[in-house]
Amino acid sequence: MTQPNINADFNFNNSYAEQLEGFYVPFVGDQAPNPELLRLNHALVESLGLDIKDLSVDDIAAIFSGGIELKGSRPLAQVYAGHQFGGFSPRLGDGRALLLGEVIDKNGERFDIHLKGSGRTPYSRGGDGKAVVGPVLREYILGEAMFALNVPTTRALAAISTGEQVFREGMSPGAVLARVASSHIRVGTFEYFASQNETGKVKQLADYTIQRHFSELQGSKDCYLMLVRAVCKRQAELLARWMCVGFVHGVMNTDNMTISGETIDYGPCAFIDTYDSRAVFSSIDHQGRYAYGSQPQIAQWNLARLAESLLPLINEDSEEAVKLATAELNTFSEQYQSSWLAGMRAKLGLASEEKDDLNLVIDLHKAMQGENVDFTLLFRGLSSAIDGETSTVRSLFDKPDSFDQWFVSWSERLSRDSLKNCERIHLMNSVNPIYIPRNHKVEEALNAAEKDSNFAPFERLMSVLSKPFEQREGLEEYALPAPKDFGPYKTFCGT
Ligand code: AMP
Ligand code: MG
Repeated sequence: MTQPNINADFNFNNSYAEQLEGFYVPFVGDQAPNPELLRLNHALVESLGLDIKDLSVDDIAAIFSGGIELKGSRPLAQVYAGHQFGGFSPRLGDGRALLLGEVIDKNGERFDIHLKGSGRTPYSRGGDGKAVVGPVLREYILGEAMFALNVPTTRALAAISTGEQVFREGMSPGAVLARVASSHIRVGTFEYFASQNETGKVKQLADYTIQRHFSELQGSKDCYLMLVRAVCKRQAELLARWMCVGFVHGVMNTDNMTISGETIDYGPCAFIDTYDSRAVFSSIDHQGRYAYGSQPQIAQWNLARLAESLLPLINEDSEEAVKLATAELNTFSEQYQSSWLAGMRAKLGLASEEKDDLNLVIDLHKAMQGENVDFTLLFRGLSSAIDGETSTVRSLFDKPDSFDQWFVSWSERLSRDSLKNCERIHLMNSVNPIYIPRNHKVEEALNAAEKDSNFAPFERLMSVLSKPFEQREGLEEYALPAPKDFGPYKTFCGT
């Protein structure tokens, strides 16, 4: 196929390609037979400063589906390894993805522009290198919902259908997602070189990572140990945010954990509806390894794999290195707890801190467990209950006895907090969303788009989720739990 002549200049500035030779293979994506733009994230285009004013919709679709030579772009597939469900895969890498290049946004921050579904690469193993419309739009919805909920995340830049049919369970329409991330350096990127005893390469990657994400550590004597500490802190904050909004990632393999602390790779993820610490949605997570309540421990387990990879840089004496790294890893639980507690205090409308707050929060979770209580509606409803109108929140519980007891303790605690009621309601409603991507609404939007090419439900859902804290008239159905006949929800990796 001939290259369309597209004159685009995104001012690429490619530090990974330039500084990390040997960490990727240069590779060009497939040219899509009939690329069509399904959605473009205009706000993100604007904030990245991408000049698209002279580009047609068709040009944009062609650019973000791959296979186009773009000025300044050095497309490449990154190599990484990963622990998948606890077992080590020594070589994964971008099997259906490409880094198009990096851009510097309007605030001077560096971002990767990355394509997912752009064709086979040397890391594809048995896969076809493709993605399909449903999972691409799913990543679009979930990622943008997380962004609006103030959770650090990679973001969707564009979704393009390729005009190709891709074989999954049957034939499905092919698609590419263009996404943006602070970087695509993963725990698994370090594991790849460490497992091959390439200490020089691990050091090169660590130095690059520090320069790109933790520049405050540059020049510090213990910078590699401090890197472990800094990544633990970012992940602890991220996990606390996931837990506070009820997000289940579903496939927290080490290749799906970024060093930057952004949520990445929205595959079989979902938000909990009824609170259950054992909630699992992914059809392949049979043991519940990545259940909602297990996520913080899994994050720590993944971080241990990062620390292991860095051991030779931490200290020449391996025993000493293990001792130092373990001490850092042990800070994770405390960091996580303090971030989670801060998030939960805000959710409960507390501006002050008391020693017993942790117990208050834990008691609420105990009261929720086994009660089929809708997590999102409960927290949102609490702001209306502070004046004593408790019937709505009580009705969310099968048996509200434990909740009633808890409510007394919470009311007493509120009486010792300085906020006025109106300030408290404002605080609570700014952190307890009313609209989350409810599973039945996500499915409704994806079905209409995939089966009937009807994008109206998708567009409406995106608009609802863009302001998750602001109650709006006419959107009542988006705040409701799934109808009973929706049944238990299962998600698939979507590969
Ligand atoms: P994931 O679980 O989607 O993060 O992917 C795990 C690994 O499988 C990564 O190395 C992906 O690049 C690779 N992979 C997933 N789907 C495909 C596909 N359809 N073709 C080739 N590689 C894939
Ligand atoms: Mg992945």
